[in-house]
Amino acid sequence: MKAEIIAIGDELLYGQIQDSNSSFLSQKLTAEGIEVIFKTSVGDDINRIAEAFNIARQRADLIIASGGLGPTLDDVTKKAVVKAFKRNLIFHQEILNRVEQSFRKRGSLMPKINQNQALIPQGAKALSNFWGVAPGIFLQDKQTLFFALPGVPKEMRWMMENEVLPILKEKKPKHFILHRTLRTTGISESAMYEKIERLIDPKGEVKFAFLPAPLGVDIRLTIESKEKTRAQEKLDEFEQKIKEALGTYIYGTGEQTLEEVVGGLLSERKKTIAVAESCTGGLIGARFTNVSGSSKYFERGVVSYSNEAKIELLDVPRQVIEEYGAVSEQVAVLMAKGVRRLAKTDYGLSVTGIAGPTGGTPQKPVGLVYIGLAHPDGSFAQRFQFGNDRNENRRKASQAALNLVRLFLIR
Ligand code: ATP
Ligand code: MG
Repeated sequence: MKAEIIAIGDELLYGQIQDSNSSFLSQKLTAEGIEVIFKTSVGDDINRIAEAFNIARQRADLIIASGGLGPTLDDVTKKAVVKAFKRNLIFHQEILNRVEQSFRKRGSLMPKINQNQALIPQGAKALSNFWGVAPGIFLQDKQTLFFALPGVPKEMRWMMENEVLPILKEKKPKHFILHRTLRTTGISESAMYEKIERLIDPKGEVKFAFLPAPLGVDIRLTIESKEKTRAQEKLDEFEQKIKEALGTYIYGTGEQTLEEVVGGLLSERKKTIAVAESCTGGLIGARFTNVSGSSKYFERGVVSYSNEAKIELLDVPRQVIEEYGAVSEQVAVLMAKGVRRLAKTDYGLSVTGIAGPTGGTPQKPVGLVYIGLAHPDGSFAQRFQFGNDRNENRRKASQAALNLVRLFLIR
C-alpha cells in the first residue's frame, strides 16, 4: 500500500509553522508497513487542494490530508473533497448533535457557523474528534482510501491513532515493516560502528541505520516481512547481539528517554535523588520532572549558579572555591554532597562547568564540565570536555549527568 500525505494551510507555505503533522503521519504509516511515497503541501485554496487530491489519487492507494477542516471561510478542505471526488455534502443530524454537545460540555452555546460541520460528503464516514469539534472524514472511492484530519496537531494525532489506524489495520494487505531503535549515549558513531560492524550485512534481512544526534546515537533496525512474529524474533536476535557488543552504552529502546530510564531505575530501587546545578541552570531538574511519577524519586533541584549560592545553599567552603575554582572536581563533589545532605536523599548529583562561549581559559577551556555524585557510601566526580556551543554544552552536560547516575545504579 502506497500513501501520500497532504498538509493543507497557507501558513505552511509562508513558512510560518513547521509541518509537524506530516512527520507524525509518516512515522505512524511507516510503522504500519505502509510506504509513504509523496508529501505535498498546499495552501487554503479549493481548486489547488482538489488538484492535489486528484494527483494523489493517481499515484497513491491511501491519502491522508490534515488541516482546513474548521468551520471558518478559510477552511475549505471539505469543499475540495466535494470537487475532487464529485460528491454532494449531506447533512447529518447526529453529527450536529455531537458538535452541539461538545460546545455544551465546555459551557458554551454552539455558534451558528459550526452547523456546517454536520455536512459530510456523500458516502463518507465522520471520524470523531476527541480534543476538538471538527469531525474528520473517511472516504473510500474505488481503490482509494481517503482521510481528512484536522490541522490542530493534538486533534490530528488523536484521530490518527484512534480512528484512522484501526480502519487501516483492517483494510491494508498484510505485510509488515518493523523497526526497532536502540538508544545509546557516550559513544561516537564511528566507535560504535567498529564494535558492531561484523553484525551488519548490507544484503541481509535486517537493515541497519545509524542516527547520530548531539546527545547520542540511535541504531535503527528495520525488517520487512509477511510474518510479524518471525520478523519480531529476528529483531530480538539482533537486539541481543548488539547489546552484547555495546554493553552499557545502550540505555534504552524505542522512544524511551534517558530521564525515563534513570527514573525507572530509581523508583525500582526505591531511591531518591536531588540535584545541584550550576552551568545547566535547572535543565537536569527539568528533565527529571518531565517524567510523570518523578515525585517518587526526585526530591529537589538547586540552581546554584554563583559562588555565593554554592557557599550559602550547599555549604561549599569558600576556600575550596578560591583554591580550585568553581569548575573543579573538588567543588563538584562538595556540591553533590551538599545537596544530598540538604535534601536527605540517597543520591546527590551536581554539575559545574563552563558552558561558553566566554569564560574559558587555557587550563579550563569552554566545554569543561565536572559532574559529581554523592551516594550512601561515598562520592566522586567525573570530568567531561564538550565543545564550544553553549546550548549544546548544557544539553550534553545534562545528558552526561543523567547517564552517570544510570551507570552508577547498574554498576
Ligand atoms: P480548526 O477547526 O481549529 O480551524 P483546522 O482543521 O481548520 O482546525 P487549520 O485551521 O488548518 O486546521 O490549522 C489549525 C492550526 O493547526 C494551525 O494554526 C496550525 O498551528 C496547526 N497546524 C495546521 N497544519 C499543521 C501542520 N501540517 N503541522 C503542524 N501544525 C499544523
Ligand atoms: Mg482552521
